[in-house]
Amino acid sequence: MARDDSGFPDDYDAVETHDELIHWSRAYCSRAVSEYGLDVVLEQVEWEVSTRAKRRAAAVKTPQVDGATVGERRDWAGSGTDVDGSPTCTMSLSWRAFESFGRDEWTATLRHELVHVEQFQAFGTTDHGAAFKRRAESIDAPVHVRRFSDPKYVLTCTDCGSEVAYRYRECKLVRNSSAYRSSCCGSSLACSRPRDSE
Ligand SMILES: [Zn+2]
Ligand SMILES: [Zn+2]
Repeated sequence: MARDDSGFPDDYDAVETHDELIHWSRAYCSRAVSEYGLDVVLEQVEWEVSTRAKRRAAAVKTPQVDGATVGERRDWAGSGTDVDGSPTCTMSLSWRAFESFGRDEWTATLRHELVHVEQFQAFGTTDHGAAFKRRAESIDAPVHVRRFSDPKYVLTCTDCGSEVAYRYRECKLVRNSSAYRSSCCGSSLACSRPRDSE
């Protein structure tokens, strides 16, 4: 598999860890910002991977800015939040969404979130209104990100009980889970179906 100088995969399908997902997504966003001419300062964006978010593929977490309105440009100077401009916001990526989305849907999701970042950095707030819709459409991003389904199978460590993997369809791991070992405890895995999916 191809890896860049920093040792991270540049192939989406080779991403295996949270750090690699952040690295890959940040690199994609950096390309998208210049390709689509987005007015986004990526240095002001922090990244996290959420394993809790149940149905949202990604989200931009922003601080509350008093009196902010979409369409009214903020003057960040002297706001005390950051000398260079807007306050930091956080791009929160759902690990389960990454597992269930292909590359095209993942990058479309990132572009959707970049429009939120662009709005936040300009206005101090963001929504899904008319301006968002126009902007999203202009960069081939969905106005609403598809909610992804809960995984069909959850693999848990039989020793400590932590959830170690999720699968959306039957596979070797699901069929023969007890033959695999958890990385946390080196114990066998138990497979369960959290709910009946169609
Ligand atoms: Zn959104
Ligand atoms: Zn364990």
